[in-house]
Amino acid sequence: MTFIADRLNLISPSPSIMAMSRAKELIAAGIDVCNMAAGEPDFATPPHIIEAAYAAMLAGQTRYTAVDGTAALKQAICEKFQQENDLAYTPDQISVGAGAKQVLYNALACSVNDGDEVIIPAPYWVSYPDIVRLNGGVPVFLETSAENGFKITPLQLQNAITSRTKWLVLNSPNNPSGAIYSSEELAAFGKVLAVHPQVYILTDDIYEHLIYDGARYVSFAQANPALADRTLTVNGVSKAFAMTGWRIGYAGGPKPLIKAMEKLQSQTSGNPSSVSQAAAAAALKGPKDFFKVWLAEFEARRNLIVSLLDGKAGLQCSPPEGAFYAYVSCAAHLGKTTPQGKRIDNDGDFVMYLLDEHRVATVQGAAYGVSPAFRVSFATSIDTVREACRRIVAACEALR
Ligand code: PMP
Ligand code: GLU
Repeated sequence: MTFIADRLNLISPSPSIMAMSRAKELIAAGIDVCNMAAGEPDFATPPHIIEAAYAAMLAGQTRYTAVDGTAALKQAICEKFQQENDLAYTPDQISVGAGAKQVLYNALACSVNDGDEVIIPAPYWVSYPDIVRLNGGVPVFLETSAENGFKITPLQLQNAITSRTKWLVLNSPNNPSGAIYSSEELAAFGKVLAVHPQVYILTDDIYEHLIYDGARYVSFAQANPALADRTLTVNGVSKAFAMTGWRIGYAGGPKPLIKAMEKLQSQTSGNPSSVSQAAAAAALKGPKDFFKVWLAEFEARRNLIVSLLDGKAGLQCSPPEGAFYAYVSCAAHLGKTTPQGKRIDNDGDFVMYLLDEHRVATVQGAAYGVSPAFRVSFATSIDTVREACRRIVAACEALR
């Protein structure tokens, strides 16, 4: 008997958060670690956003707000959806929470009954399956591989749908693979889903601005207007505006679901920080010229990482199309032994070896459902990227 509820055994601590905090602890202890585990931009929040937050505090915006977002922020979100995604949401179709993570949690907690199935393409962001499990649902994974660009096919989707399917979760650009679905690919999924009215689509667009090679971003409901009434479009300011600590995420979707999410949030956290909401509104409405500068920097790092790792010392690293992660295969190294005599049986062992013996923090592919691989974040300086790649290659060359 333990005091902790049994349902906590259904989940693990977020592996990406664990890896990130382990790296930060080592660095704080003075150890020279290349932190490639961080899932957050290394840029500072732009000053005009910080100034808007300060002005809001001075103007008295320091009290409770409407539970799922201020009128001003919801209006700014509607304008963002209209201008950037061609999606026409009204403020009563918008939910704001403490990060996209809370919004996703609310959406799944408000809709998943015991035994309901949620289709999740792998590799997936670590939190989707555990949020489903915590709410009594069953994650149904669809396999992909580097050979097919880490993308599912319409046939795979078709074959996975049952009468218990509640959601399809799409995340494009994908964390950790960087894969992006084109408008045509999304429309093909839409065709499959059109005849399954019980299935809703949760699209996590949080990396929409981080796309390379001049590609154009299309969101699911934009490619499938006929399915907009069963699509929840999730986004947030964390990645686009370097505002991970401010904790503001949002979604646009069907009114009954948005209403249910408000009810849940009213009994759990209440409104997200009033100050952060003012900052998020300023971010969405303000200048976006820095996007281009950040994107160019991310793209340079992506190109460097691929040139330094792909085909080197048995590693395979195809260029991510978006987000700021490379998903690298370490298949060639399983079964080998480290200079300290430890056997590498899986990607967890490989990642531990990189950290313990070569001081590079990454995240094991097992956390994302596609192994053997590891995720390397390039949300860090180009010099750190170069040094980390040097260490990773040296680590691989030292295995026997
Ligand atoms: N979705 C994906 C795919 C992510 O990588 C993250 C980053 N943690 C989130 C959602 C949540 O972001 P936040 O809660 O900071 O808005
Ligand atoms: N999304 C980031 C990541 O994948 C932040 C950590 C988390 O919330 O999991 O690393």
